[in-house]
Amino acid sequence: MTIDETKLRQLVQVFLEENKKLNLSAFRTEEHCWVGNVLDSLSFLQALEKIEGLRAPQTLLDIGTGGGFPLLPLAICLPKTHCSGIDATKKKVDAVARIVESLGLTNVGLFSERFEDKARDKNFREKYDIVTARAVAPISILLEYAVPFLKVGGFCAFWKSSKVADELAGSTKAQKALSMSFAGIYEYELSPDFGKRLIVFFRKMKATSSEYPRKVGIPKSNPL
Ligand code: SAM
Repeated sequence: MTIDETKLRQLVQVFLEENKKLNLSAFRTEEHCWVGNVLDSLSFLQALEKIEGLRAPQTLLDIGTGGGFPLLPLAICLPKTHCSGIDATKKKVDAVARIVESLGLTNVGLFSERFEDKARDKNFREKYDIVTARAVAPISILLEYAVPFLKVGGFCAFWKSSKVADELAGSTKAQKALSMSFAGIYEYELSPDFGKRLIVFFRKMKATSSEYPRKVGIPKSNPL
C-alpha cells in the first residue's frame, strides 16, 4: 500500500475539471472532493486490518464507478492491484478514462456495460478478489450485481451512510441465495460535516448459481 498524496491531489484537480463538463459528483470544491471522494474511498485501506480474512487484493472491480470513486484512489494506493471499473453510462466511463490517462495509471481497466450482462462473460465471472460499490443500490440488489464477479472466498465492500440496519435486515434472503456470509462493518468519521459513514463487508462462501444475476433490470425491479 502506497499513500501517494501528490498523485491523489492531482486526481482531485483533474477530476474537478471533468466535473465542470459532466455532472459526476456533488463535491465541487477541492476540500469537499478531497474528503468526500478521496478520503472516503481510502477508508477501505483502514478496514483491511479490521475485517477478518480481508487482504489487499490482486484484483478489484468497482461496480457503478461513475466518476471513478472508490476506484481511482484505490488504484493509486494499491499499485500492485489490478483495478477495474464498470458503469453503464459511457460518458462517465470516458471521463474516467481521460483522468486515468492524465494521471498515467497503468493498473486500471474500464468497461461501459450493464453489470447483469458483464457478469455472464466468462472472463469476468468469479474473477475478482474484491468487488466495491458506493452509492449504487440497496444491499439486496447490490449483492446480486456484485457476487457473480467474485471468486469464492472474495469479499464485497459496500459504502453506506450510518443508517444501514433496515437494508441489512432486508438483505438476508439475497445473502442466502448468493451464498454470502456477513463479514463485518467498518465505521469511520471523515470530518464532523460528513458524519458517520461505514463500509459493509460480505464474504463469498460458494460458487454462484448460473441463475444469477437475473436479466437486465430484474435485480432492481424485483430484488431478492
Ligand atoms: N460510485 C460512484 C460514486 O460513489 O461517486 C458513482 C455512483 S452513481 C450515483 C451510480 C452509478 O451506477 C451510475 O453511474 C450508474 O450508471 C451506475 N449503474 C447503476 N445500475 C447499473 C447497472 N445495472 N449496470 C451498470 N451501471 C449501473
